[in-house]
Amino acid sequence: MQVVAVGSVALDTIRIHGACHAELLGGSASYFGLAAAHFGPVGLVGVVGDDFPEAHVELLRSRGADLRGLERRAGRTFRWETEYADDVKSRRTLRTEEGVFGGYRPRLPESYRAAAALFLANIDPDLQQVVLAQAGAVPLIAVDTMDYWIRGKPESLARVIAAAHVLLVNDEEATELTGKGSLPEAIEALRARGPAAVVMKKGPHGVLALGPWGWLALPGLPSTRVVDPTGAGDTFAGGLIGFLAGHDWRAREVFATALAVATALASLSVEAVGVAGLARDGSAEIRSRCAQLREMTAFEVPRRF
Ligand code: AMP
Repeated sequence: MQVVAVGSVALDTIRIHGACHAELLGGSASYFGLAAAHFGPVGLVGVVGDDFPEAHVELLRSRGADLRGLERRAGRTFRWETEYADDVKSRRTLRTEEGVFGGYRPRLPESYRAAAALFLANIDPDLQQVVLAQAGAVPLIAVDTMDYWIRGKPESLARVIAAAHVLLVNDEEATELTGKGSLPEAIEALRARGPAAVVMKKGPHGVLALGPWGWLALPGLPSTRVVDPTGAGDTFAGGLIGFLAGHDWRAREVFATALAVATALASLSVEAVGVAGLARDGSAEIRSRCAQLREMTAFEVPRRF
């Protein structure tokens, strides 16, 4: 298996722009998997209930997701309901229903243990450690987290971060993890805790990363029209890790291209409701958005003044 993702597979209800979209395919592993599947096979590790619609299974399979690691248990699927503010910049969670996700212990199928890349989405860091203990010597381990675990399980999370090659954070999480208001300083402090590369997502403002090659940065795509930002972070991670898997991710050029691909995929995702923007062949569109990013950032250094 090229890429393995461990995280939530969910039924999302999203209230946005005056409409209510009920029981959509969601969850961090779904967004990640549909993004990473653009570049090769992806195995999803998670759990759903016996109410999980067959149409969602079909969609994931049709896009190239391997579901041997997706357990189906008697009970209800994890559900999450959110409501966005009118400007779509903030949201509040109306309902989180754990269902069969409560008490779940991830199990990596044998064939997944030699993956080219492993993504640990923002689940309980104790469970992230359970997965790490099962994985073989995976050459690229990427970790995501969220404020809830930063506050709730800091010691466990610190062990997971130390084991990661690539840590993905947003600006608020980086500040909360390190106590540093300066984003570059926060990134440097996080890198000192173990990961070879730290990637900071700044929503519409792009991405800032520090790795063996030094600093890399990209803006967001200004033409993006946000219809539904749900899952943008996981989609970004899927584009990044999906592209990096099997490549020499320590090479600057490779990582820079992966950041562009991830930015392009995240913009495609937020332009549609739920996973609809990802669940199609967007390779031409991804390439054209990467070209736009390159045009936006290429310039000549002045020889003299
Ligand atoms: P994002 O917009 O990047 O925060 O991702 C939203 C996705 O995360 C939705 O599809 C939800 O189903 C999923 N999600 C929300 N809360 C949780 C949680 N506590 N644990 C795991 N997944 C969650």
